[in-house]
Amino acid sequence: MTRSETLFEEAQKFMPGGVNSPVRAFLRVGGNPLFFKKGKGAYLYDEDDREFVDYVGSWGPMILGHAHPQVISALQDAAENGLSFGAPTAIETELAKKICSIMPSIEMIRMVNSGTEATMSAIRIARGFTGRDKILKFEGCYHGHSDSLLVKAGSGALTLGEPDSLGVPKSFVENTLTLEFNNSDQVRDIFTQAGKEIAGIIVEPVAGNMSCIPPEAGFLECLREVCDGYGAVLIFDEVMTGFRVALGGAQSLFGIEPDLTTLGKIIGGGMPVGAFGGRKDIMQTVAPLGGVYQAGTLSGNPIAMTAGLATLDLIEEPGFFDTLTENTLTLMMSLQSLAEDSGVPFSTNQVGAMFGFFFSGVDQITNFSQVMNSDMVAFSAFFNSMLQQGINLAPSPFESGFVSAAHGQVEFDKTRAAASVAFGILKHGK
Ligand SMILES: *Cc1c(COP(=O)(O)O)cnc(C)c1O
Repeated sequence: MTRSETLFEEAQKFMPGGVNSPVRAFLRVGGNPLFFKKGKGAYLYDEDDREFVDYVGSWGPMILGHAHPQVISALQDAAENGLSFGAPTAIETELAKKICSIMPSIEMIRMVNSGTEATMSAIRIARGFTGRDKILKFEGCYHGHSDSLLVKAGSGALTLGEPDSLGVPKSFVENTLTLEFNNSDQVRDIFTQAGKEIAGIIVEPVAGNMSCIPPEAGFLECLREVCDGYGAVLIFDEVMTGFRVALGGAQSLFGIEPDLTTLGKIIGGGMPVGAFGGRKDIMQTVAPLGGVYQAGTLSGNPIAMTAGLATLDLIEEPGFFDTLTENTLTLMMSLQSLAEDSGVPFSTNQVGAMFGFFFSGVDQITNFSQVMNSDMVAFSAFFNSMLQQGINLAPSPFESGFVSAAHGQVEFDKTRAAASVAFGILKHGK
């Protein structure tokens, strides 16, 4: 038995499925999850001392690679001064100010401890601000695991083959409407029918929890237009895309200003963080200024703020995203061409430093049903072959991949060599 196998057996005795978040359990791809003991740069090291080029990046936050020396040293300094005071600190304002300057649609912001908290609170604010109940979301988009958003959710819920969750009362999701991603006609229709009852739209401006799917031309514009027309709040869930697809997130890349933005992942630099922010008049409804209640014992703690600030300082450097984007695009193009050489139906998407690939003959994957129709068995075979060869991809066809600034030519060459073998196995397996 490997050490990971032994550890997994032990873990399953004390934690449901042996994990603290379901997609980590490898249900989609078979086999046992690996236990990691160390990360450095583009690499992870498992308990059996094997080295992996990592494209999961803790599901998004590690845009600088693992254990970046400047982030770690800032954290060590901060820790010396105490971990949390539950009182205001200067660094909270510093991070808030930095985020507001990078994302001008955010005039005021509140820090929380996870993306789930951020989206849950943003929805409450949209409802409180408009006095309406209905929320519109899109199939395959994941906005964390709060009750009212677990309707045909993406990512973990899909991976378990449970688009819904037990334990969510029907009445909690009654006011959640779900439409097809990238389908502007459906959006216009529902607003024509019920626009005056809709508090807001929440969307991943680049979907990242049904693999990676960019918005089609006109889709985000349509969302902006109906929200303006009906006085609804447009929420961009940029927990994944913020500081990932571009420094200013998807909103800067596509030139659409949301009313509220939710953030997480990268703004915590690997520590547990989330945030929501946006238009001042809307944010002023949040307690203690307004009547929408929201609170958190550890919110804005100096450790999380330090990790976030150190990360943002580094990714703000000119050219940072140009290189990342180019590297990610090149990687996807080379996978595409290797697949073609092997005659394996394959399709890729890429936005900034985020990517998705599909075992599908569909040229351009644009929505959830196309993802569902891709070849999951081929995905699993490819994933397992890559892992065996030291390439760590997300263990589910419903996740995005992430390239970090620590990934360079050496890592991309290793990835291509492994992919060539993996595609070869798929071809001969058929
Ligand atoms: C990861 C993610 C969340 C949830 O964030 P957690 O920190 O895991 O609660 C919400 N929305 C999107 C788009 C995400 O990618």
